[in-house]
Amino acid sequence: MTQLKNILFTFDYELFLGKRSGSVNRCVIEPTQKLLDVLSPYKIKAIFFVDTTWLLRLKKITHGNASAKNDYDNVVGQLRYIAKLGHYIFPHLHPHWNDATYVPEINQWQLINYSRYRLHSLDKNEREQCFSDSVAILKEILGPDYKPTGYRAGGWSIQPFEDFAPLFQQHSVKYDFSVLPGSKRISSAQHYDFSDIKINRPYTFSTDVAVPGKGSYTEFPISVLSNTGINTFSEKVLLKYMSWSGSNNYGDGQSIVVETVEYTGAENGTEMVSVELLNAVKLPLYLKFLATNNYMQFISHPKMLSAHNINTFARFIKKAFDTYSIETDFEKMLPE
Ligand SMILES: [Zn+2]
Repeated sequence: MTQLKNILFTFDYELFLGKRSGSVNRCVIEPTQKLLDVLSPYKIKAIFFVDTTWLLRLKKITHGNASAKNDYDNVVGQLRYIAKLGHYIFPHLHPHWNDATYVPEINQWQLINYSRYRLHSLDKNEREQCFSDSVAILKEILGPDYKPTGYRAGGWSIQPFEDFAPLFQQHSVKYDFSVLPGSKRISSAQHYDFSDIKINRPYTFSTDVAVPGKGSYTEFPISVLSNTGINTFSEKVLLKYMSWSGSNNYGDGQSIVVETVEYTGAENGTEMVSVELLNAVKLPLYLKFLATNNYMQFISHPKMLSAHNINTFARFIKKAFDTYSIETDFEKMLPE
């Protein structure tokens, strides 16, 4: 009998969050379509975390703006298609979208004010409003029966959980996907501390995502692998070759630039499991991780992907499905 492996494929469906958002086509529509083409033959049930704070702003400017209207219609069409394929769609909030400026000349946004990056920076009423509006726009797009049972916080900033608990309760959210075990970041925007969490499997919790125990919520932690065994020289040569041969990322925006006060994570020789970090040199590392773990959660951003990432991802999936019996539906991975 083939071994059972649980693999969660999750994608943050969003634009860039810095000086230039990038275009909707290049950051979202095109790379997402490529990913769907890879997932479909295997009947994978992936999760798409949709930046609803962006969609709410975009929708507001569609009146009398043909480019914005076209972008919004394309997103709505793609989200409905994603839902039809059987994938999950859950909200993903970056409240600083409320401070973004639209630049009509390039049909992109500028996000330079990060003072409202975290939900924590809003007061209780504003948090409720932001979350309710997010659920409402997904309902409007996906139909009145749509239910946001899962959530991923923008920038992993799910702490303090007491900010979220009333919102989760109100909207029947039971599953969180924000924890990056072993990582800690305190910056002018993000704020999280998962340094004490070392678990690579779903666990229940009650009042604190970083404290596993009895409770009505389930955390699906993002997987973290050790990259110390990797041949960094080969990787550098590969990446250099890729950029020389014109295999650049789809996304055309700029990432958020923040002042980081404290950070632990990648420097310790670990990194999150992600399609945008996967390349030909790292493929054996990903397969080895799968061989030694029964649970593996990918966190990926379509805006960060190159054609090479997606091709390597397709090779990973083929090998995984050839070797193991694979479960991709998170609802079938619930802890007892
Ligand atoms: Zn995000």
